[in-house]
Amino acid sequence: MKERARILVVGGGYVGLYTALRLQRRLKRELGRGEAEITVVSPDPYMTYQPFLPEAAAGAISPRHVVVPLRRVLDRCHVVIGEATGIDHAKRTATISTLATGEEGTGGRQIPYDELVLAPGSVSRTLPIPGLADHAIGFKTVEEAIGLRNHVLEQMDIASSTRDPAIRDAALTFVFVGGGYAGVEALGELEDMARYAARYYHNIRPEDMKWILVEASARILPEVGEEMGRYTVTELRRRNIDVRLETRLESCADRVAVLSDGSRFPTRTVVWTAGVKPHPVLAATDLPLNERGRLKCTAELTVDGAPHAWAAGDAASVPDVSAEGPPRECAPNAQHALRQARVLGDNVVRSLRGEPLETYAHKYAGSVASLGLHKGVAQVYGRKLKGYPAWFMHRTYHLSRVPTFNRKARVAAEWTLAGLFKREIVSLGSLEHPRAEFELAAGGKPSQDPPDNPKGSS
Ligand SMILES: Cc1cc2nc3c(=O)[nH]c(=O)nc-3n(C[C@H](O)[C@H](O)[C@H](O)COP(=O)(O)OP(=O)(O)OC[C@H]3O[C@@H](n4cnc5c(N)ncnc54)[C@H](O)[C@@H]3O)c2cc1C
Repeated sequence: MKERARILVVGGGYVGLYTALRLQRRLKRELGRGEAEITVVSPDPYMTYQPFLPEAAAGAISPRHVVVPLRRVLDRCHVVIGEATGIDHAKRTATISTLATGEEGTGGRQIPYDELVLAPGSVSRTLPIPGLADHAIGFKTVEEAIGLRNHVLEQMDIASSTRDPAIRDAALTFVFVGGGYAGVEALGELEDMARYAARYYHNIRPEDMKWILVEASARILPEVGEEMGRYTVTELRRRNIDVRLETRLESCADRVAVLSDGSRFPTRTVVWTAGVKPHPVLAATDLPLNERGRLKCTAELTVDGAPHAWAAGDAASVPDVSAEGPPRECAPNAQHALRQARVLGDNVVRSLRGEPLETYAHKYAGSVASLGLHKGVAQVYGRKLKGYPAWFMHRTYHLSRVPTFNRKARVAAEWTLAGLFKREIVSLGSLEHPRAEFELAAGGKPSQDPPDNPKGSS
C-alpha cells in the first residue's frame, strides 16, 4: 500500500454511502494510522432511501426516517456538503462547489485524490414538452415526495372550498407520467391516501377524483414481469385509476394535460416519472462515457481505461456478466447499486494492497412494489405474489435493506403505531414558507407562492 491513499467518493446515495461504509470498516487500521483518508462529497447531508419515498408521500413514514445522516454513519470519513462540478482525472483533481464557495465567490474548491469513486446517480429524464419544466414535479427526492403529499391534500382543500366546478375539477385531477416503479408506487400510495382522506371532507367522494397514469409503452412495472405488470393494470383500473398505455403526454401548458390520444385534462398536478438519465456532471469529466452518457466500466467496477477511477450504480454502465444472450449492462436499480458498492469497496482495498480484483456478478432477483396500504405486487426468484402478501413482502424486504439499525427501528415503530391509530391526513405545505406569517405581521408582503401553486408543483 502507498504511504497515504486519499480516496474521494463523489455522491452520498446508495453507492456512495455503502462504498464509504465498506471502506471505513476495511481500512480501519490505515485510517487510524493516517495512511488512508476518505472524503465523501454529497449535495445533501443524508442518503435518501428512495424505495421508501412513496410511503413517505402517503404519510406512512416520516421524512426524517427515509434518510440516513451521512456524518453520523460515516464517522471516520470527511463529509463535504457540496457538488462536484468537474473532474480532471488526468491530474487526479476534483472541483467542488459548496455553499461556502458560493458565498466567498472564490469559485470551486480543488480536492486532490489518489482513488476516485464516482457515484452521482441519475436525474429525471425529461423531454421538451410544452409546460413540463414550468408545471411538473419529479419524484426522486424526499422534498418532492413531501411536497407532493402536501400539494395533493391542498388540492382537496381547494376543491372542497371552491364554488367553481372548473377549479374543483382541475384540483381533483392528478396526472402521473411514466409507469416504472417510481410512478406506479407514487400514484398507488397517493391515491390510497387521498381516498382515505376524502372521508374527512363533507363534499369530496373518492369517485370525484381523477387519477390518470400515462405510459408510452404497452406495459407498466416491467420490473415485476409481464404477468404481474398486467395484474397491476387490472388492479389499478379496479380502483378507478385511468391507466392509459401506449399514450404520451404532449403538453401541459396552461395547466391542461394534453395526451397523444387526443384527450385533455385541466389539472394542477403533473408528476413526471418517465425514467432517468445519468447525472450531467459525468460530462464534465475526462472519463469515457457510453452512447447513453453512463460511465464505461469493467465488471471489476473500474472505469474502463482510467486507472484509479471506480464507478457503480445508476451512473455506471457495468457489464451484466450473469445475463445470458447478447451482452447487456446492469439496469439502474437499487439492487445492483447496493451489491456493486460492496464489491467496489472491497476492490479499492484489494487494489491498494496489490491483490487481484473481484468480478461483479449478480443475477436480478426480481422486484417488489407497493400499490397502497395492504396492496402490492411482487415477482422474486420467479415467485409471483399479489395483494397483501406482496405488500407484506415489500415492507419486510425494504425494512431489512434500509441502512442502520436505528432507521430500521424507527420505521418499524412508525408502521406499528400506524396500525394502531388512524392515518395522518394533515398537509403541512406552509412549512415550505416559514417566514410568511412573520412577513405579514411585520407589514411586508409574504413572498410565498399562491396557495394553489406550491413551489415546484403545478
Ligand atoms: C421513487 C423511487 C423508488 C425506487 N424504488 C426502487 C425499488 O423499489 N427497487 C430498486 O431496486 N430500485 C428502486 N429505485 C431506484 C434506486 O433508488 C436507484 O437505482 C439507486 O438509488 C441508485 O443508486 P446510486 O448510488 O447510483 O444513486 P443515488 O442513490 O441517487 O445517489 C446519488 C447521490 O449522488 C449525489 N450527487 C448528485 N450529483 C452530485 C455531484 N455533482 N456531486 C456530488 N454528489 C452528487 C446525489 O445527491 C445522491 O446523493 C427507486 C428510485 C426512486 C426514485
